Amino acid sequence: MSLAQSDQERLCMMNPLDHEEFRRQGHMIIDFIANYYRDIEKYPVRSQVEPRYLHKRIPENAPYNPEPIETILQDVQNHIVPGLTHWLSPYHFAYYPANASIAASLGEILCTGFNVDGFNWMASPAATELENIVMDWLGKMLELPESFLFLGNGGGVIQGTTGDAVLCTVIAARDQLLNRIGRENIVKLVVYGSDQTHCSLHKAAKIAGIHPNNVRSVKTTKSMAFALSPDSLRSEIISDMEAGLIPLYLCATVGTTSSGAVDPVGPLCDVAADYGIWVHIDAAYAGSACICPEFRHFIDGVECANSFSFNPHKWLLTNLDCCCLWVKDPSALVNAFSTDSEYLKNTATDSKQVVDYKDWQVPLTRRFRAIKLWLVLRSYGVVNLRNYLRRHVEMAKHFEGLIAMDKRFEVVVPRKFSLVCFRISPSARVNGCSADDEESTANELNCKLLKSLNDSGRVCMTHAIVGGIYMIRFCIGQPLTDYRHIEMAWKVVQEYTDAMLGTYLK
Ligand SMILES: *Cc1c(COP(=O)(O)O)cnc(C)c1O
Repeated sequence: MSLAQSDQERLCMMNPLDHEEFRRQGHMIIDFIANYYRDIEKYPVRSQVEPRYLHKRIPENAPYNPEPIETILQDVQNHIVPGLTHWLSPYHFAYYPANASIAASLGEILCTGFNVDGFNWMASPAATELENIVMDWLGKMLELPESFLFLGNGGGVIQGTTGDAVLCTVIAARDQLLNRIGRENIVKLVVYGSDQTHCSLHKAAKIAGIHPNNVRSVKTTKSMAFALSPDSLRSEIISDMEAGLIPLYLCATVGTTSSGAVDPVGPLCDVAADYGIWVHIDAAYAGSACICPEFRHFIDGVECANSFSFNPHKWLLTNLDCCCLWVKDPSALVNAFSTDSEYLKNTATDSKQVVDYKDWQVPLTRRFRAIKLWLVLRSYGVVNLRNYLRRHVEMAKHFEGLIAMDKRFEVVVPRKFSLVCFRISPSARVNGCSADDEESTANELNCKLLKSLNDSGRVCMTHAIVGGIYMIRFCIGQPLTDYRHIEMAWKVVQEYTDAMLGTYLK
């Protein structure tokens, strides 16, 4: 039996890296994404699909025969796009942002186009050296002390996420200490954060073999704007030491996930120094703002910390994923993560002139993320990156101004960056209820309001519960967001509140 001509053509595989075909299909994908950005406001911000919606639409098995890109892109439009929550929508105010930009998208294409695996210097010298260079550039933009830069014998590495950065530094700190006092003491090690510290610390402690009873979440209070108090930290440490435990690691946060609180870095480092504790500063979101002189003071004291990280993939126009981690003592990372494999040896490392980034992270393989960051820094320059961040903070102030004009609402915690935490205030209820019930009634109302906002698809926001208060988080940080989107979002909030409360107290 002979195959028809068209079947034969189909079965004869085109080279998967044919350059002309790459050009043709690549242009189609760029057009597709350009149209997506053009039309993004048309889509409901939060996906409105039901669980397992996609299983009903996609075949149970992979296709045996190849399919053309045209058909696949049709399916992306028809079946994938409805299941997306549109993080790049100008009406996406949920979580913290996940930024994208032309420069970073194109940098990502270069990264994936070259597809080098720069685990050590020899495996692609440009990948390692460009990473060294951009990490020093960015470190200088943040005015990190030279001790964190390669030029000062520290150094920076690009990790995937803050979770990776926290894990790597917990393990580096653990091994550095245990090598001195004996591995058997691992059961006595204690790590510290506040009740606002990101759960990355708990995950890292788990993986690092810290005893589950030895992870401290020091209580914060509304009166201290949910920042970690150095005095509270010190008393926890003292009582742990009296119990025969050994303090290991403190994760201080600049811009907490729930409410944007800032732990006082300098004073916390002073406490930690008294007990030889490794201090890591997690500035995942707010770190970007610290490239502006007027926000830099939030990381004052960083010179006394051991490590510092933030995510350009949140608020610095760099597509996922990109977390920048600096350490003062790279050998602490290298001692914890290096392995001695003959097949990875290279003379450049032996010369001590270069670093092998495989020893600064958990996996061996690593993407050429530095080229993406390099394109961002060069395409926008420090000046436009600063203006980008400032504009979001200005828009957040504008949003606060809108809230202030409607007596039914209040801003719950002082705003520092572009995150506004607000709620319908307990005094705005329709029918009077006892003072005891005021807070819980407010919590229910705000929960209901948020649900209707997100169900509408017109805006997307998320919530936090801090100190027993349910608050709606409104975080501005998307490149497409402009003043008109902020004003529209506020109108939507008021509309749904009117429907819930009547126009009482408006
Ligand atoms: C977002 C966030 C994280 C988690 O970042 P990943 O890169 O997703 O691991 C950690 N800490 C803080 C303060 C955050 O806001």
